[in-house]
Amino acid sequence: MNYITFNLLTYFIFSISLSVFASGDTSNFNLTEVVNGNYVHIGKHVSIDDKQHDDIANIGFIVGDKCIAVIDTGGSINIGTQLHKKIRSISNKPICYVINTHVHYDHVLGNKAFENDKTVFVGHQKLAEGIEHNRQFFLTQFKSDLGENPDTSSIIAPTELIENTKQIDLGNRILTLKAYPTSHSHNDLIVIDNNTKTLWAGDLIFRQRIPSLTGSLLGWVKVMEELKDLDVKIVIPGHGNTSNSIDSAIEQQQAYLQNLLDETRKAIADGQFVTDAMENIDKENHWKWLLHKFQHPTNVSKAYTELEWE
Ligand SMILES: [Zn+2]
Repeated sequence: MNYITFNLLTYFIFSISLSVFASGDTSNFNLTEVVNGNYVHIGKHVSIDDKQHDDIANIGFIVGDKCIAVIDTGGSINIGTQLHKKIRSISNKPICYVINTHVHYDHVLGNKAFENDKTVFVGHQKLAEGIEHNRQFFLTQFKSDLGENPDTSSIIAPTELIENTKQIDLGNRILTLKAYPTSHSHNDLIVIDNNTKTLWAGDLIFRQRIPSLTGSLLGWVKVMEELKDLDVKIVIPGHGNTSNSIDSAIEQQQAYLQNLLDETRKAIADGQFVTDAMENIDKENHWKWLLHKFQHPTNVSKAYTELEWE
């Protein structure tokens, strides 16, 4: 092969891989129908600086007789496009709603892929202001995840905001949406498919991957108790495997958060420096969670700040 042929071939392969990326190639996009009409894509357990950081959250959709609701759209327009393509491989019904469970990038940056569907974007009462607050940060931090020539319009915020609870009908399929006070984040929302009693918990529930605290530890501990009372059969967490029991879905996270609360209070009372508390708290349980070393010190620091003046 001469030099020009080689360069042409390289250019050709590069062009193909670029176009595959831009078009949202779905060949590696997992999707499971967990229960009748509820389709879930399970995200990867990689850190935020990994090149696959845009595909770490569980996202999916619910199909009714009349239309479809999407629940979270992934951490890039590419992931959102892949989800959109998968939906279209299963159903041509209109996509009535895109519901975002909260503000974190891995759940919302794919929204743009649904912009042309005459979709209503739905979220917690505080989600629109949460996205406004983060818009510039997303644009700077996740520029490569926002397609070609990204600008502030690449990030779509919800227009229908949920203050407490609301029911929406997809056609013989009622979804119950419920907004929570500050816990994992400042704008957590759950979705329940009433037909199948399936809970889409967003990041109120983490499994396998260590929970990340960005809202309020006291709030989250309280919400965990409330989740236990939900009448649900199947649980889809924001990260990690699905479960057919709410108790087993939250058991490990509840223990982690309670321990974080108790141990942080003790460290503060003992006058420990936060850096020492990061080392000491939960030391014996680190093996129970994936990515513990990346997230746990941040959780301790956040807990420390919250509890220092209680
Ligand atoms: Zn989150």
